[in-house]
Amino acid sequence: MHEKLIEIPGVRSVETVGLDLDHTLYPRSEKMDMAIAECLGRKIAGHLGVTGKQATYMFRDAYSRLESSTKAFCELGISDGDKLLDAAVDEADVTQFIEPSPETVEFLKDLSSRVISMDLITGSTMASTREKLKKIGIPLDLFGWIIGAEDGRKIDGGAYKLWLSKYLCLRPENFLYFGDRPSVDAEVPQSLGIKAVLVNNPKIEDGISVVQLPSLFDIKKTTLWQAQNVLSQ
Ligand SMILES: [Mg+2]
Repeated sequence: MHEKLIEIPGVRSVETVGLDLDHTLYPRSEKMDMAIAECLGRKIAGHLGVTGKQATYMFRDAYSRLESSTKAFCELGISDGDKLLDAAVDEADVTQFIEPSPETVEFLKDLSSRVISMDLITGSTMASTREKLKKIGIPLDLFGWIIGAEDGRKIDGGAYKLWLSKYLCLRPENFLYFGDRPSVDAEVPQSLGIKAVLVNNPKIEDGISVVQLPSLFDIKKTTLWQAQNVLSQ
C-alpha cells in the first residue's frame, strides 16, 4: 500500500524547478543560527539604538517567542528586516558549519532528471554560493541557471523575474520554486504566478497558501514525483 502523496496544486504544468540555497540545500544548525543572529544584531543595532549584543538578544528573544523572523522584525519595529536577514545569512560565515551531504547530491540528481531544468535562485553572492555548494558536494553544472545576489534580489521579485526571462517559451505556471522562508521564497514568487513549496520549515506557518514540507527530501512524497514518473513512462 502506497502512502498518499502530498498534492502540489497544478503540478502537471511544472517544467522547471528552482531552489533556494541557504537552509534549503543544507539544514540550519544552532551554530549557524548563532553566527547569523550575531551578524544580524550588528545590522539592527542602529535601528534599535542599542549595542549589537543587545540587539542580538532582543531579536533572538522575539524570534523564539514568535517563531517567525518576519513577526520578530515587526515586533521590533524594523520594516526592512527581510533584507537585513538575507544580508546576515550571506555575510555570517556559516560555510564553516556546512557538512558534505551525498544524500542531497543524489536527491538533486534525481530531481533534475524529472524536469527540463533545475535552477538555483539564491540571496547569496556567487562567491559564497560556489563555496557552499562545494562544501555540500553539489557540482555547479547540476543547475541550468544560477541566479545570485549580484543578479537580483528575491524580496522585490527581481531575481524571480530574471529567472522567468530565461525561458521565453514557458509561462510562470510552468515554474515551481522550493525554499524555506514564507516571505521571500513563497509569497514573492507566488505574486508573479510561480508555484512555491516551502521545505525545511518545521513550524507550519498560518495565513499562507503554500504546501509546507518538513525536509527537502519530502519532495519525493509529493505529486511532483508521481506526475513526472507518469510523464517519463
Ligand atoms: Mg533560505
